[in-house]
Amino acid sequence: MHEIGITQGIIDRAREAAVQNGAERITEVHIVITPVADFTEDALQMFFTMLTEDDDLFRDAVLHADHRPVAATCQECGDEFSVEAPGPTCPKCGSFNVRLDPEAPMVQLTDVIIDEG
Ligand SMILES: [Zn+2]
Repeated sequence: MHEIGITQGIIDRAREAAVQNGAERITEVHIVITPVADFTEDALQMFFTMLTEDDDLFRDAVLHADHRPVAATCQECGDEFSVEAPGPTCPKCGSFNVRLDPEAPMVQLTDVIIDEG
């Protein structure tokens, strides 16, 4: 259930950006999800709606999620490739023993579209 904490983190950062820019309302929140995330976009969408429904700043705000691949290395044959979905297998040898880029974020706030009223 840590998706709710992650969603709250996105909301908090979006709010901070909006307040700094004198926003009356947030219309769109853009995020990027990578395969490092152990949750689905649907979960984030659900919590986003749940956590913002009584929040005037986020009234009718839409959460846009883009998916970005991450670099991965096969621990069996050393092949390096790009992974677009969770639970990858090595394209060369078929191993499940694949290490995703440890630096890659699960989810990142990329843009906040505001209405200045
Ligand atoms: Zn391999």
